[in-house]
Amino acid sequence: MDVSIRCQCGREMVVSEGSAGARIPCSCGGIVEIPSLGALRTSIGLPAVDIPLEMEAQSMLDAGELPPPKCIGCGHEAERIAFVAECEQIHEHTSHDKWPLVQGIVMAVGLLSNSLAFAFRINGEDETVTTIHGRKVNIPVPIHCCASCRDRLIRKPTNQVLKVQKISGSVLLWAGIIGILLYYYVIGAVALAAGIGLQWMVSNKQAQYQRRLKDLLSGVPFYKRVFEKYPDAIVEFH
Ligand SMILES: [Zn+2]
Ligand SMILES: [Zn+2]
Repeated sequence: MDVSIRCQCGREMVVSEGSAGARIPCSCGGIVEIPSLGALRTSIGLPAVDIPLEMEAQSMLDAGELPPPKCIGCGHEAERIAFVAECEQIHEHTSHDKWPLVQGIVMAVGLLSNSLAFAFRINGEDETVTTIHGRKVNIPVPIHCCASCRDRLIRKPTNQVLKVQKISGSVLLWAGIIGILLYYYVIGAVALAAGIGLQWMVSNKQAQYQRRLKDLLSGVPFYKRVFEKYPDAIVEFH
């Protein structure tokens, strides 16, 4: 966090939070008194105390400061949409002691397509070690949005269409691999490419929707801070 402070002489200096409360000499001979940490933070729009964003969100919701009362698109009365930003997930990591080679292959194939990795997934019956990483951070980012702005600004790609594309993508991928294994190189390669293309389209569509949604929500200053801190957050409708 950098804050710029101005001396009486007009010279500007940039200080970090570590210099809160300090007295810094200016080249004009004067002394610049740096405000307290709380005052520094509030001067740039942060809460005085560094509390987790999810707690801050809750207190702003309780105080009625969030969400903004009117439609985020047109400013008219509108219904509330309970969006939640899934900022951090708990990652479970399970290591299998058995079948290291098979696992390696599964991982390599998994790079090609999640669905392939899923189809190949092996449940280790012997010793497995599960480690939990991280913590779950969900931050409510509700808005008000009227039906027409919702249609115009945040229409979600329909799940049915995506599902069909996803499945056809996997089928084509498989067909491609089998084709190549059976020496139908050209047909196999075409099917493989089409499958990868379809899968890419699905994930691209979902990513576009997320970007659009986050851009829109970032119009609310607090939500902007959420997405600056968690750029990979997934916004879901709860
Ligand atoms: Zn000065
Ligand atoms: Zn509207």
